[in-house]
Amino acid sequence: MAEDAFDAIIVGAGPAGSTAATVLARAGLDVVLIDRGVSAGSKNLSGGRLYTHALGKVFPDFATEAPLERLITKERISLLTQESASTVEFGSGKLGGKSASYSVLRAPFDQWLADQAEAAGASVITGIRVDDLLLRDGRVAGVVAGEEEMSAKIVLLADGAISLLARRAGLIGEPNPHHYAVGAKEVIQLGEDVVSQRFGLAAGEGCAWVFDGDCTDGHIGGGFLYTNRDTVSLGIVTTIGDLGYSDVRVPEMVERLKRHPVVAPLIAGGTLVEYGGHLALEGGYDAVPQLVHEGALLLGDAAGLGLNTGYTIRGMDLAIESGRIAAETVIAAHGRNDFSAASLAEYADRLKESFVLTDLAFYRRFPKFLEDTRGMFTDYPKLAEDAMLSLFSVDGSKPEPITRSLRTAARPIGFGRLVRDLWRGLGAINGRASVAGALGGAAIRVRGTANRKGGTR
Ligand SMILES: Cc1cc2nc3c(=O)[nH]c(=O)nc-3n(C[C@H](O)[C@H](O)[C@H](O)COP(=O)(O)OP(=O)(O)OC[C@H]3O[C@@H](n4cnc5c(N)ncnc54)[C@H](O)[C@@H]3O)c2cc1C
Repeated sequence: MAEDAFDAIIVGAGPAGSTAATVLARAGLDVVLIDRGVSAGSKNLSGGRLYTHALGKVFPDFATEAPLERLITKERISLLTQESASTVEFGSGKLGGKSASYSVLRAPFDQWLADQAEAAGASVITGIRVDDLLLRDGRVAGVVAGEEEMSAKIVLLADGAISLLARRAGLIGEPNPHHYAVGAKEVIQLGEDVVSQRFGLAAGEGCAWVFDGDCTDGHIGGGFLYTNRDTVSLGIVTTIGDLGYSDVRVPEMVERLKRHPVVAPLIAGGTLVEYGGHLALEGGYDAVPQLVHEGALLLGDAAGLGLNTGYTIRGMDLAIESGRIAAETVIAAHGRNDFSAASLAEYADRLKESFVLTDLAFYRRFPKFLEDTRGMFTDYPKLAEDAMLSLFSVDGSKPEPITRSLRTAARPIGFGRLVRDLWRGLGAINGRASVAGALGGAAIRVRGTANRKGGTR
């Protein structure tokens, strides 16, 4: 058999791919990282909030070295109707330390990550699209880009949501539209002082704000707004499965959010400097495909590792952790010179033990809760508006006891449904304590190997 050109080929220089490339190159493996964008991150898009706990394990000095925008110290969640926003705000200097999260802009952040991989010794190639996987004797043996074939002992697929390469090679099945969402985002330039003043922030501190209700015209999904150093990132995420029933297109949803009376004054006078759209993961734990294959691993979004709980949107920290664990698995397999699925099964086992699959399992019931509880996007924002209006309106008429106001506001929904939805909602975010509990004894999904155990992916 021809000698492999590389120890590892990684497709995709997003957070998953660049992290894996860095860890592999630091261990002295001959690794190439390929991205179709003109530069790493040029095709990537996030709402823009990075939880840094996973990043710090690989890049301990990230806080001073990485291009981070603002440390998030203020959280807001709003239920929107056309005219009102019922908002919960939490501000705290304690939103730092190990649980610190920062707003980031993907183009500079992803470029920084790819630079770390290059500095560690990885070859980084941008502007090349990988068209196919090279399959030999039933295993992944490299990649095909245009006329060129490149072989490697292992290929790490970090090519983002709905990995076309994994699908084309038959490693994963057809995507379910209910497992994916469309995201659209604008970056609006305001100036550093204006951002701080309008959002009530100290220098370097930031606000993360999520919206539910009117902005998606009652469809599953929501809006987000993150303050960057001198810009804000604002956008919408809504499920593809729901879009077919919507008269309002995604760009119009973004406009609705921008026009909302509570948002509009905050972005007034701003200049649009960037916009884009991207797929986001929405399926949670049940959408995670087979992760380990003969000669290949799936990482990050390509592995379905994304989490949307309504109040947090996460993917980058899961991508970074999966990149690190995949790389450490490959280093061990390299030591054994065995890149079979059986040898690589440790990747799935370690993800299961890590926060990645534990968190996904914990929130496993959340996507189904949202699908079954449309009132979250219609009736409940209206209920909140009615309750707030009855609390805060003073017009000279006789005051009502608060309990009666709340009962009146809840009447259109019905008390029984309200309690049921509340109970199910609490259950969905209260999760299950273990991956094993969530799996209920499902069989391991490691392709083409005799090493089949119970209870992992
Ligand atoms: C609107 C929106 C808001 C989000 N908000 C947040 C948030 O606030 N916080 C958070 O943590 N996560 C958020 N996410 C999710 C987050 O963006 C992803 O989870 C994360 O980017 C996954 O990283 P990744 O490295 O797996 O994939 P990606 O970042 O998607 O990187 C994949 C890379 O592969 C490259 N590629 C793809 N195909 C090929 C090919 N054939 N050949 C060569 N290169 C290829 C692409 O160019 C890209 O660079 C959001 C997502 C969206 C869409």
